[in-house]
Amino acid sequence: MKAITIHQPWTSLIAHGYKRFETRSWRTHYRGPIAIHAGLKSDFQTIKMLAINYTRFWHEITPLPTGCIIAVAELISCRKVVSSGRERGSGIAWLEDGYMILGNEVDFGDYTPGRYAWKLANIHRLKEPIPVRGRQGLWNWEPPDDWKCVVCNGFVVGGGLCEDCIGQETEIAMDLGLI
Ligand SMILES: [Zn+2]
Repeated sequence: MKAITIHQPWTSLIAHGYKRFETRSWRTHYRGPIAIHAGLKSDFQTIKMLAINYTRFWHEITPLPTGCIIAVAELISCRKVVSSGRERGSGIAWLEDGYMILGNEVDFGDYTPGRYAWKLANIHRLKEPIPVRGRQGLWNWEPPDDWKCVVCNGFVVGGGLCEDCIGQETEIAMDLGLI
């Protein structure tokens, strides 16, 4: 699986679903699953900004884990930033193809024109962060062996049952009158 190292507090904002775009200086053509790794360094300017301006989010995401994978998501698009407004809370960033980024999301990234907005979906926060050393760029990470569905052996983040099997188990349980 591909992985990307991101400094805190951005990483935890992603894991908690408050940040859906990772902003980078480079474009990627990769699409698919991506492990979200919290680097060892944190961005203290941003931590200060969050603690002051986004107190509720701040309380929810702290303490901030570092040096570990804390979520798995899917990278679904990558678009260049063409222009942006900078005022807090009322910011707008425009991406190529006419896409617009609004509100908190603008504060939760660097939308300087010329950079790229990587859109993440299906974000799963891990119950237990997995310690691993980070790298630059997109790197490869081997998920744990037990991230398999106990019924069909298909890949499932964190292990347990995959969505298909959850659906089937539910049907069987209903047939048996258990639920
Ligand atoms: Zn399954």
